[in-house]
Amino acid sequence: MTSEETVPDDLCSVCGRRIQADLLCEYHHKALQNLRGAFNDWQHAMAIDWTTYLDRLEETEGVGDWVLEIIEFIKSQSDPSELTQPPT
Ligand SMILES: [Zn+2]
Repeated sequence: MTSEETVPDDLCSVCGRRIQADLLCEYHHKALQNLRGAFNDWQHAMAIDWTTYLDRLEETEGVGDWVLEIIEFIKSQSDPSELTQPPT
């Protein structure tokens, strides 16, 4: 994959702040954890896959900016890494 936008290794893939964990700053890392946690709940409640879940969440009122940015980031990945995969 080639991209003109190169992000230094030690900066958040989404916003460019300093990395806390998993290539993300503390805010986006926390948002991703929340996203994955909520996905487990949704899966128990209804048959839903990761991609559909992200689409639904984007349309949901009251979703925080950090989470929305993480969703955009995940969807922008044409070659999903472990980071952007659904929780196992
Ligand atoms: Zn960030």
